[in-house]
Amino acid sequence: PALLTLRGVGKAFSNGVTALNGVDMTLAEGDFLSLLGPSGCGKSTALRLIAGLSSPTSGLLDWRGGGLDRSQVGFVFQEPTLLPWANVFDNVWLPLRLKGVSRAKAAPAIMELLERVHLAGFATAVPRELSGGMKMRVSIARALVTKPRVLLMDEPFAALDEITRFKLNNDLLELWQDQRFTVVFVTHSVFESVFLSSRIVVMAARPGRVFEEMTVDAPYPRD
Ligand code: ADP
Ligand code: ADP
Repeated sequence: PALLTLRGVGKAFSNGVTALNGVDMTLAEGDFLSLLGPSGCGKSTALRLIAGLSSPTSGLLDWRGGGLDRSQVGFVFQEPTLLPWANVFDNVWLPLRLKGVSRAKAAPAIMELLERVHLAGFATAVPRELSGGMKMRVSIARALVTKPRVLLMDEPFAALDEITRFKLNNDLLELWQDQRFTVVFVTHSVFESVFLSSRIVVMAARPGRVFEEMTVDAPYPRD
């Protein structure tokens, strides 16, 4: 079932740039949807609209059931933005802590997630001791710790080397297959979009619009 439908969505900024024009797309519950396209075609703008961080200047976003509240959405950006003075455990705990969940109560879920992202031995490490890929793993764990229904990712792996990127793709795919959250993943990597996605929305620039939408036949079970 459709979780979100974009109908004729446009975004014109006050400087005269039209980032999106007449975008129609559907996000279904459980999708792993990639927004694929060249730099400047409006992918981040579309993601910001979906995140509720910005509003369309035309058209509408139709959320089934009236939308999600903030706690049902997880974010992962290219920059992991971890608290530098806090260890891995405390960084992942943060979103739960903000909801009033104690460290002790949060611990089982946090340790399980750290295991899933292959950081079980690094709970007490601080960010400066971690590689870029490991910081990204922390960032993913932090985004998932509240069990969001929707995970929004904006070029999360673009700054990482190929091998690290491939490992993270695999781990993300496993998490998604197990936990069934819905993903919107912005990328300009064709490989990444084909490898990860159940659906790909290809965007074109000037002004940003949907060029093609396709469903990917997964070579592995997705039930
Ligand atoms: P992408 O993520 O595909 O690279 P963006 O959504 O970041 O594309 O940007 C689409 C276009 O909109 C670009 O021309 C960009 O410069 C412009 N743009 C993005 N955000 C703003 C903004 N806040 N104000 C003005 N122009 C913007
Ligand atoms: P809205 O009009 O929906 O509120 P905003 O003006 O809040 O959107 O978007 C602002 C964000 O986009 C800011 O973080 C700003 O620095 C950034 N931004 C501004 N101009 C551009 C641009 N040309 N390309 C990309 N991002 C931009």
